[in-house]
Parts: sequence; C-alpha cells; structure tokens
Amino acid sequence: MTDLDGVGFRWPDGYRAASAFTFDVDAESCVLAHDPGAAERMSLMGHQSYGPRVGVPRLLRLLARQDVRATFFVPGFTADCYPDVVKSIVDNGHEIAHHGYLHEPMRGISAEAEAEYLDRGLEALDRVAGVRPVGYRAPWWETNWHTPRLLAERGFAYDSSLLDDDVPYRIANAAPETPSLIEIPVDWALDDWEQYAFYPGWTGSGVIESPQKVLEMWWLEACARHAEDGCFVLTNHPFLSGRPAKAHALEELVERVKGLDGMWVTTLQEIAEHAEKVCGPGKAHQRPEPQLR
Ligand SMILES: [Zn+2]
Repeated sequence: MTDLDGVGFRWPDGYRAASAFTFDVDAESCVLAHDPGAAERMSLMGHQSYGPRVGVPRLLRLLARQDVRATFFVPGFTADCYPDVVKSIVDNGHEIAHHGYLHEPMRGISAEAEAEYLDRGLEALDRVAGVRPVGYRAPWWETNWHTPRLLAERGFAYDSSLLDDDVPYRIANAAPETPSLIEIPVDWALDDWEQYAFYPGWTGSGVIESPQKVLEMWWLEACARHAEDGCFVLTNHPFLSGRPAKAHALEELVERVKGLDGMWVTTLQEIAEHAEKVCGPGKAHQRPEPQLR
C-alpha cells in the first residue's frame, strides 16, 4: 500500500499507526446489572470473579513481560469488591478508566439516571484507588445522544464506545462550555466476548472459538489498520482472555503488534491526548428522525 491508501490521521513523529490493549474488568457486575437474582448462582459468580482474582494477575504479568501499558475499564462495583486488584493495576502503571458503577444497561435511560451512574462510578474509583479517570467506556458500548454532554461536563477527555470510525476524532459540541471530547472508536470484531463468552442461561451460543483462530482474526485486523496508518483498539475481559490458552494467544498478538514498524503501543489516555492536539473541529452526530406514518 502507498501512503495514499492511509486514513489520513497524523500520529506522533516516528509512528505511522497506534494500538491499545484494553481490558474491561466487568467481573460480577455485568451479570448482576441484568439479574440481581444471579447472585444466588455460586458457579456463575465464580466464573465472573475469575477475572479479578486470576485473570487480572495473569494479564498484569503478561503486560510486564511485554513492557506494555494498557487501559483497564473498571466498574465502580468491581472496585468496591476487589480494591486490592484495582490498586495493583494502578501500581503496575496502567490506566484506570470508567465503566459505569454496576455495568448498568444505559439503553433508553434518562440523562438524570445516566448522570447518577457516572457519578457513582467516579466516587468508587476515587474512594478505592484515588483515581479520577479521564476515559469512559459505556457498559455494552451502549450510549445515548446525551452521553457526550454528560461526559464533557464531568471533564472526561475521551470516550471509547462508538463504532463509527477507524481512527480517533473529536465529538463536536459535546457541551457548550467544554466542547472537546475525543472519541476512540471500537469494533465488535475486536472484542473477546464474541469469541469466547459462554455461560448456560446467561450468554453465548455454546461455541467457544479457538484462541488460534482468534489470534489470526485479530492479527489480520492489526495488520490492516497498521497498513492504513490507523488505530487498533482491542477489548478483552479478564474472566475470558485471562484464562490460560487465551492469554497465551493474546501475548503472541501483543508481541507481533509491537513488532510492526512504526506501531505506537500505548494507553487510550495517551492516544486521546495526542488526538486532542491534532483533531479538527469535530464530527457532529445526527440523530435520525424517520417520518412515522
Ligand atoms: Zn463491560
């Protein structure tokens, strides 16, 4: 490919593309948000708590071996239940970002309710780890048209929940007083949930993909985004990708991505800080208003 095939995003000097390895430490919260009664299911709760108890320590070792800093999206409830795990993520030099309080389903909720969840999550991360996150990822990547305003009003620098581009961009007019909010887009093909998640009566089709196949799929995506001077953002869940063979495949991917010429491997916070400097006036999102008859 020539430079003309690129997406036209200007990365810092010395880099032609960027990548971020991100981990959503949902633990029990994503189950309990939909069904508080699931707390009675000991095995299901254990399947989820595997994330912070076993997966996160393994992933922290993996990242240390690879000398890579990552972004961890932590629901406030996870922070309250596993304070030492969250502190260990901070102590290892990684970024902590916001992911709701109880991984609340945001679809169709009012701005007031969403604001309350945001504030509750902020309080928990501050209380447990002394962290004021600059990044947000909506639970299930489900945003509302009022979400950018709520984030901008709270001083967030970036969101990483939308699926409408390949590279970071500025969300125009997020809020009148604080107009700047960077979006770092995601992609369902770059989420381990679709590949690995299965639990009877809770999620998944029953098929758990081979980490070898997943490695191939994500590697193709990383190479294509690198070739286009783009941005590769991978979303993993410690209760899934923190398990042995999956973590092993992930480490091979990290090693390969690091080896791509001019690939910047960093946190979403650093990508957002760079995007803040180079992005233009921003993209205005238009809510469709079909004429119903
Ligand atoms: Zn999540």
